[in-house]
Amino acid sequence: MSNPCALPAYLAPPTDEERKALPKLEERLRRRFGTCMTDYRLLDDGDRILVGVSGGKDSWALLDLLASLRTRAPIRFEVHAATIDPGFPGYDPDRIAEVCEAKDIPHVVLPAPIDTMVRKRPEITPCAMCSRLRRGVLYTHAKTRGYTKIALGHHLDDLVETLLINQFFEGRLSTMPLKLTSDDGANTVIRPLGYCEEEDLRRFAWLKGYPFVPCGCPLCGASVLESRRAQVKALVADLQKSIPDLKFSMLKAMKNVKTTHLLDKELLGLPKPWAK
Ligand code: SF4
Repeated sequence: MSNPCALPAYLAPPTDEERKALPKLEERLRRRFGTCMTDYRLLDDGDRILVGVSGGKDSWALLDLLASLRTRAPIRFEVHAATIDPGFPGYDPDRIAEVCEAKDIPHVVLPAPIDTMVRKRPEITPCAMCSRLRRGVLYTHAKTRGYTKIALGHHLDDLVETLLINQFFEGRLSTMPLKLTSDDGANTVIRPLGYCEEEDLRRFAWLKGYPFVPCGCPLCGASVLESRRAQVKALVADLQKSIPDLKFSMLKAMKNVKTTHLLDKELLGLPKPWAK
């Protein structure tokens, strides 16, 4: 699977005609973003938020929406950006730094030896190691610099796909949380794009002229995790042809859990060990 961020349709700059769609799209995204923020109390007065910016469409959209909310919100909060440099040949974090500087958003590049580690330890699943290393570097930076929250660019499609992947391949009913504090209480991760659709974010980043910065990973699109996601993404796209509201119905379901009508013995108050 090629990277969907780089679809040819989005490589050429938008025409004047295509740009006309931006105000309506921006208004929809702001509304969904704001509702998600309010529903899950993702923001507090005085927050210092560190946004993980990879240079993909989701992270640009997140940074843009947060920065514009900062100018309109009745509370005060700071927005800073951090980019993990995994060391893959061709990855260009300076491109991200230029955009952040132009938008007056403090930005830092955090090196993480992902390329070296992936090559040195072929026995470990590369994507698992990669996300562990990225998380570790980002969390440590946030903790030592006094950030109150880390904002990540996962969106509604990610939530839906993760819910299905966890059921189909892991035997677990769960998705990505919109707000989660680490066990030691040192870091709180928020996902304010949880109500926003991936295609809207892709168009938004493109219409706003954000550059797509390829991650340079040779495994991108080829790993087991990525192929599972691609499989589930294709399934969702197929079902959506006959169920247009599928993703929003699944979002509603994630917010409307009837634990008594599931089989988790712990939730039902029954003793362990769990029987299959
Ligand atoms: S495919 Fe993505 S998660 Fe896996 S090693 Fe490459 S950059 Fe990391």
